[in-house]
Amino acid sequence: MGFTVRARFAPSPTGDLHIGNARTALFNWLFARHSGGRFILRIEDTDFERSKRSYEKSILEDLSWLGLDWDEGPDTGGDKGPYRQSERLELYKYHAGRLIEDGLAYRCYCTKERLEELKDKQTAAGAPPRYDGRCRDLAGAHPPAGVIPVVRFKVPVKTTTFYDGVHGLLKFDTATIGDFVIMGSDGVAAYNFAVVIDDALMEINHIIRGDDHISNTPRHILLFEALGFKTPLYSHLPLVLGEDRIPLSKRDSATALKRLRDSGYLAEAVVNSVARLGWSPGEDFMTLAELAAAFSLEKLSRSSSVFDKERLKYYNKTAIAGKDAQSLIRLLSLSAPGAGEDRLGEVVEAVKANAETLTGLKTLVAPFIGEPLPDEEALKVLGADGAGALLRELKDLVERAGPIDEASFSAIMDGVKEKTGAKGKKLFMPIRAALTGTTAGIELVNIFRLLGRERILKRLDRWV
Ligand code: GLU
Repeated sequence: MGFTVRARFAPSPTGDLHIGNARTALFNWLFARHSGGRFILRIEDTDFERSKRSYEKSILEDLSWLGLDWDEGPDTGGDKGPYRQSERLELYKYHAGRLIEDGLAYRCYCTKERLEELKDKQTAAGAPPRYDGRCRDLAGAHPPAGVIPVVRFKVPVKTTTFYDGVHGLLKFDTATIGDFVIMGSDGVAAYNFAVVIDDALMEINHIIRGDDHISNTPRHILLFEALGFKTPLYSHLPLVLGEDRIPLSKRDSATALKRLRDSGYLAEAVVNSVARLGWSPGEDFMTLAELAAAFSLEKLSRSSSVFDKERLKYYNKTAIAGKDAQSLIRLLSLSAPGAGEDRLGEVVEAVKANAETLTGLKTLVAPFIGEPLPDEEALKVLGADGAGALLRELKDLVERAGPIDEASFSAIMDGVKEKTGAKGKKLFMPIRAALTGTTAGIELVNIFRLLGRERILKRLDRWV
């Protein structure tokens, strides 16, 4: 069998996915799909305090919503599972034991107090805090009673060099790292160890993740080498910044996918705007398949990108305008009491190009499917001097006109203008407010057309 790309997304279920996490997931998915490879979803839940099943569930929902399907994962299974770290603890223990046996890791009995003292001393001397290796050569000596050891990795002192798909050749001097913990005293693997065992056993051959993990990578490479596993390739993505130029975090809800979905953004619009964070496949709206076909790690940018809400709005508008009315009706879960499906379809078709979000679309559709109650602005306009007289003239002219079309609409409007002397906003606003209950919305001619003569008259009756 030939080489198969195996890429993964490995979220920690400690919060909801935001635009930055979505970018990591998307790029891994695009990378795998580009080459007909496999996309694996792994849940990194060894932080038992902060990990929650409910977050895991919403991460899976968010990925599915975006259209990023996985070939192996906690729900779908696969032959390299389990795909939740909390279910892999025995594997980590086994491999930690292997390292101890090979003399590449050791049990460390240093107490918290000693470690703190050491850190304080090093900091005071202006040195970077790191473990001094005191327990490295305890072999044979009697371990102190009552202390449950951690396991530390013996960091070989050398220069690790690796080629990063985004940043190019990177060099690290491992002398600054210090022997780090791979198993806690509770028997649970440290993140830096679990991730290596998992990537190795799941045969991940290319890792795409955020720059926030770049400083962990030398440790990972050293572990791969010590364990005798083949080191994967790495590409680290520069972080995504918010408009305030601060990296996005799970704490800000404004860029949480869930929040965007609830505010009426379509998955394909989110995908399109996320795809432009550090990659430039042109500005045209693209499907996931088109993005996958175009994807290339070599084209990724080395500098951080800023999440641009305006661009998201632009893609959302494009996505809404490009959908047929029936799909939009389904997305909005709309039904129109009294009006047939066709009528609703016609309304949606007529207003969709004006909508920036699904929520906005719903607002634009609302005046045509129910009997709208005027909002505050509309009431102000309707209460102004001359509004009543203007609407009476309008009613009169509509009564005398035949069916509403573009020509009769123009004639009616000319008539109202002539009789009342009103023009511009003074002319349009009261009519808009009386017919739709709001002062914003689609063009007046379309409001007339969609309502038709009978409903226009019925709505005007309320105000004259
Ligand atoms: N679980 C890590 C995170 O959510 C990702 C680890 C990785 O990609 O190597 O940040």
